[in-house]
Amino acid sequence: MKTIIEPFRIKMVEPIRLNTPVVRDQILRNAHYNPFLIPAESVLIDLLTDSGTSAMSSEQWAGMLRGDESYAGAKSWFRFESVMRDITGMSHILPTHQGRASERILFELLGGPGKFVPNNTHFDTTRANVEHSGATAVDLVIDAGRNPKGRHPFKGNMDPSKLQGFIADVGAENIPLCMVTVTNNSGGGQPVSLANLREIRRICDAHGIKLYLDACRFAENAYLIKMREPGQQDRTVKEIVRDMFDLADGATISAKKDGLVNIGGVLLMRDDVLAERANNLLILTEGFVTYGGLAGRDLEAMAQGFQEVLDEDYLHYRIRSVEYLGEGLIKAGVPIIEPPGGHAIYIDAGSFLPHIPAEQFPGQALLVALYRHAGIRAVEIGSVMFGRKDPTTGETIRPPMELVRLAIPRRVYTQSHIDYVIEAMTELATTKEQIRGLKIVEAPQVLRHFTAKFAEV
Ligand SMILES: *Cc1c(COP(=O)(O)O)cnc(C)c1O
Repeated sequence: MKTIIEPFRIKMVEPIRLNTPVVRDQILRNAHYNPFLIPAESVLIDLLTDSGTSAMSSEQWAGMLRGDESYAGAKSWFRFESVMRDITGMSHILPTHQGRASERILFELLGGPGKFVPNNTHFDTTRANVEHSGATAVDLVIDAGRNPKGRHPFKGNMDPSKLQGFIADVGAENIPLCMVTVTNNSGGGQPVSLANLREIRRICDAHGIKLYLDACRFAENAYLIKMREPGQQDRTVKEIVRDMFDLADGATISAKKDGLVNIGGVLLMRDDVLAERANNLLILTEGFVTYGGLAGRDLEAMAQGFQEVLDEDYLHYRIRSVEYLGEGLIKAGVPIIEPPGGHAIYIDAGSFLPHIPAEQFPGQALLVALYRHAGIRAVEIGSVMFGRKDPTTGETIRPPMELVRLAIPRRVYTQSHIDYVIEAMTELATTKEQIRGLKIVEAPQVLRHFTAKFAEV
């Protein structure tokens, strides 16, 4: 059947506000044309991020009430630990308050000056934590992963020959670990194949380098493997997930994505000695080893969420719904990164708005137009987020593309919301010449996209 149906029904609702374009224009002025400064209650459909924005199930809420808040050895902890061990097979399971806390502990232990960490593409907090330790973060995604139009099925793959060249250049002794991000968030939510993970593992083994996964979207990655990788069609997602983790020495996970919760994270390891040191750091800044910066009720919600995310009817709906959004935009003549990724659609705002030069921020201009026209909030991944001045020449350094990301929260919006987004973008496409560029009037030195103020040109 063609209709994509949500494999759940709705038990609790939250009204969202339908404002008029005139009201939204005033809200935009008040927010200085920066969607981060718009109050969430003035947003109709919020596609800012898929992180921590999931709707929980009735079983997760039931778990919240059952949560055991004992300081040590709580029942909720043992449930969480056994679920994570069953899914990942890892011997050490450390709860953290979110993904970046796992990263901080891992890189404090394994990073440091003179060290290098390769990844397919570092997520921004991962890169920041590698660099904070004094180490250098390097992205080694395959070339196809940088080409927006190519329909390679696994654009998240790490390039094995680049990895070998890199090891030869800097020396295996200076590479404490290699990371692979599944799915590759910063590379467009693109999956990594099992064959690629095996190849990377073989290279790491040959040089005594540990392999870690940044596994925030492990279930979406496994489902895309099942759909796209030869020989995987008849296996369960759970089996594929286990194969992915079996190839790794450990993993960092933000439960705010495939954990289907609003807060939480995990650090996974096999090495007993390293895990003992990690536990000491965990106690120092997160909390005791059986709660790690979370309440017992959070551990219950995570235990339940990590099981629910492996439901293949859910994953089918999830991946298909994102793909459907991508197809709708392509049909409307809106250029996107192809094929659609697991959790988001990335619009190529630079080619969509050729009349707006990069210095007038076409991505930001599209965000403003989308909110004014339809009340939809998205995020710019382009010159606002990554543009900076070269400290020596003073020249502006720009990212390769001006993108707008529509990230889809899990189980929150229905197919009619998705149809509305397609309709809004289709209408904008017919009047896009009227969209105006922006200039920055005020911006902080770092992470300017969060608070910068703009004016229309
Ligand atoms: C979200 C994310 C992180 C960081 O997790 P937080 O929970 O936001 O700290 C790390 N890596 C990837 C790929 C992510 O998507």
